[in-house]
Amino acid sequence: MTNLTSIAIDGPVASGKTTVGRIVARRLGFRFLDTGLMYRAVTWVALQRDIGLEDGDALAAMAEGLTMDLVPGAGDDRLLADGEDVTERLRDPKVDAGVSFVSRVSGVRTVLVKGQREMAERDDFVMVGRDIGTVVLPNAGLKVYLGASVELRARRRHHEIAKEAGEALPYEQVLADLTRRDRIDSERADSPLRAAPDAISVETDDLDIEGVVERILAMVE
Ligand code: C5P
Repeated sequence: MTNLTSIAIDGPVASGKTTVGRIVARRLGFRFLDTGLMYRAVTWVALQRDIGLEDGDALAAMAEGLTMDLVPGAGDDRLLADGEDVTERLRDPKVDAGVSFVSRVSGVRTVLVKGQREMAERDDFVMVGRDIGTVVLPNAGLKVYLGASVELRARRRHHEIAKEAGEALPYEQVLADLTRRDRIDSERADSPLRAAPDAISVETDDLDIEGVVERILAMVE
């Protein structure tokens, strides 16, 4: 499998992957996929269907049967799960709290990774997530790992939540949730969060969005 036309961007919570990845994709005329949305959609549907987040077999069976479609919209892409537009549900605090339990289930990952690879075979993609460079697209033409201090990421996430949900959560809670999610994502047995050996790391503390985008576009050239 050659994926010279794919760009993999990985990193922890609120490292800026999605914002940066979307702009890079637009500038290069690539499609964009935030793979986190797929794990979030499985989590949302599991909560709706009262499937326990500890029940790996039930989660995997549900993911296997779930049809997910990414529909390009005027703004962000819409995600349809079994035909229902769940885009607005994916940032729900319940999803934030549960998603790392769902994403550590190997049976769920197998299903989602297969779908992600199929998309990358059909089109040029900028794909962002936790395991894109290591597992999903090991032959990606470019692999980037974005990092930033935990305090900066918590401040960003705190700001995002206030904007999305219209009400602020205490900063300390956001910091604790983010630290917990990063720990589960990094310590899980299957596809833990880490930089691929051939990924280029970019520390974003001292860069604005455009600065990070410029760095990546320079690497592409
Ligand atoms: O990127 P985002 O924070 O939206 O991802 C939500 C969760 O989905 C992550 O905390 C992680 O548990 C899971 N995830 C993953 N692999 C990916 C993308 C996301 O395990 N490629």
